[in-house]
Amino acid sequence: MMCLTISDEVVPAIYSLNVKQRFGNVECVLSCGDLPYYYLEFLVTTLCSPCYYVAGNHDTVEICDSGDILTAPRGCVSVDATSVLHNGLLIGGLGGCVRYNWEPGPQYTEIEMMIRVWRMAPQLFVNHLRYGRYLDVLLTHAPPLGIHNGSDRAHRGFRAFLLFMDLFMPRYLIHGHVHRSYGIRKSRETRYHKTLVINTAGYRLLSLVPAKAVVP
Ligand SMILES: [Zn+2]
Repeated sequence: MMCLTISDEVVPAIYSLNVKQRFGNVECVLSCGDLPYYYLEFLVTTLCSPCYYVAGNHDTVEICDSGDILTAPRGCVSVDATSVLHNGLLIGGLGGCVRYNWEPGPQYTEIEMMIRVWRMAPQLFVNHLRYGRYLDVLLTHAPPLGIHNGSDRAHRGFRAFLLFMDLFMPRYLIHGHVHRSYGIRKSRETRYHKTLVINTAGYRLLSLVPAKAVVP
């Protein structure tokens, strides 16, 4: 399934009226956070494709032109700590980044993120029973510990995501947060056991296929 994955940067080539011509074959948009809500809403409206997203640490509230206060992008589906099935692809997410200050926005300690993983586990076990696999795509904002990390605390990865990949073996972990200023020149794809870890800061056009079903 062709997916447009986005995070962290508003890309002029995408926030453009000819986006439909360039990305008309996209079946869904996957957002890994730190993007203005109007950008996600624009893509949903223009591409007529669903958008599944997790929040980044800078995603708080947004005041739109009408004066309304938005706490989430309209018409988009949050997959934070849950999962959805879209055209045969199981998509779940864990937003936020490692806690580095007390500003508003989703930030978590390592223990808090580990708890979020365990809270998500019952649904993943149900997926395994129903579909023969736990999850195909895990959307995160922060990277896993030691993979595509930045060097400062704010851009450190979560150890909990390594455990997630060890236990639930998603085919892909797609993250943002580590963008141009924080070493995006490094590799943007790294294999970790059965999972391909992909940094989507900016945007990527990816052809994603479901993980193979595992007979229990
Ligand atoms: Zn971020």
